[in-house]
Amino acid sequence: MRIQSLLAAFVICIALPLQAFAMTQINSVRLWRAPDNTRLVFDLTGPVEHSVFTLSAPNRIVIDIKKTKLSAELNGLTGGKSPITQVRTGSRNADELRIVLDIAEQVTPKSFTLAPNQQYGHRLVVDLFDQATNTPISTTTVARQPVSRTAPTPVAAKLSKLPASNKRDIVIAIDAGHGGEDPGAIGPGGLREKDIVLMIAKELQRQINAEKGFRAELVRTGDYFIPLRRRTEIARKKGADLFVSVHADAAPRAAAFGASVFALSDSGATSETARWLADSENRSDLIGGAGNVKLDDKDAMLAGVLLDLSMTASLSSSLDVGQKVLSNMGRITPLHKKRVEQAGFMVLKSPDMPSILVETGFISNPNESKKLANRSHQQALARSIHSGIRHFFQQNPPPGSYVAWLRDSGKLAIGPREHVVRSGESVSLLAQRYQISPAQLRSANKLKSDALKVGQILTVPATTLAGQ
Ligand SMILES: [Zn+2]
Repeated sequence: MRIQSLLAAFVICIALPLQAFAMTQINSVRLWRAPDNTRLVFDLTGPVEHSVFTLSAPNRIVIDIKKTKLSAELNGLTGGKSPITQVRTGSRNADELRIVLDIAEQVTPKSFTLAPNQQYGHRLVVDLFDQATNTPISTTTVARQPVSRTAPTPVAAKLSKLPASNKRDIVIAIDAGHGGEDPGAIGPGGLREKDIVLMIAKELQRQINAEKGFRAELVRTGDYFIPLRRRTEIARKKGADLFVSVHADAAPRAAAFGASVFALSDSGATSETARWLADSENRSDLIGGAGNVKLDDKDAMLAGVLLDLSMTASLSSSLDVGQKVLSNMGRITPLHKKRVEQAGFMVLKSPDMPSILVETGFISNPNESKKLANRSHQQALARSIHSGIRHFFQQNPPPGSYVAWLRDSGKLAIGPREHVVRSGESVSLLAQRYQISPAQLRSANKLKSDALKVGQILTVPATTLAGQ
């Protein structure tokens, strides 16, 4: 015992001075430019204490880091769309590093450190927010109408009414998962989910924009990180009628394959795989460093009020559009699950916007990752997602939209479709919703009684919805 504690004391005596003199090193620096901010990430050999402040005339950002030595080149921080015009470094004390960034325009800095994860070690993150972004992006904001005829009117719809003659576009927000500091899943050969899903998202946008009556907006337009809550905020600001998050799976088992579609579950994940996925997707915020950012109180309250009113309608629409997307995807790629799965993904938690998350395939599967990187497969995936979305909105066009006008003027034929039974739904309620008779619904499904099971798939016969 005594020998052991003596030994321990001896080790501490030696270790302490070593620790005191050990300098943390900055090994590399990365810069990510987003439309409204610039993120600097310093890779460190250990944790650091730091401070960041601004100086004006000329505009500068000063970063002081204690007990740290610079062993990286900083010349990649200027040029392009970076607001940084020049970088200078010096020492404040013998062991304190000072980095001075000359800035072309005023920015608001925010900084924090990140602990190591699977991909990176200790990091210091400095975000420089462009000051112009304090004004809201309201140019494309449109009052939204509920998608389903049975949905309650969201608060947003009361803010302004579109003139009846204005046949608006249906707006689809496409959210390419991950980005910037968060690469998402990594496949064989270093193929990164964030790159693949951005390519598919851009292709999907191109296809949707080519169709009259629809407009697609990308939530993420380049290689930068967006916190999960911010993604749905961006979609809402763009007046989205539907939120589609695009991802590519990874699984510990390399053999896992197939596409899946998720809608939100209120009771958490419905399967082990779903739970695993939900965790890894939600972890994105921690990876990206937004873990401490809280939704502001007003938003939370508004969301709370809206939640009860429209969550049910949104979820029902999400399951419907999700099933259509999944069926179409099943024609061009194997499916991981035949039904829409439900999990607690953060990006799906919009009470007022039908939202789905599409896993386009397993990037961790060597075969599938090769396909995911292939341009024509990406186009086929986008086409199948697009078909599902089109099908859904032809059946459920938001009031005031061009597609609603097509339907109301008898220019849109509505073919047979599927309905997944949700709790509280009855034959008479569904017949009324789809504007058919209960007898039509019974005969189309060979129902012997009116007892429906939750999850049961019903065929809704074709109808003409002209002049509704
Ligand atoms: Zn993902």
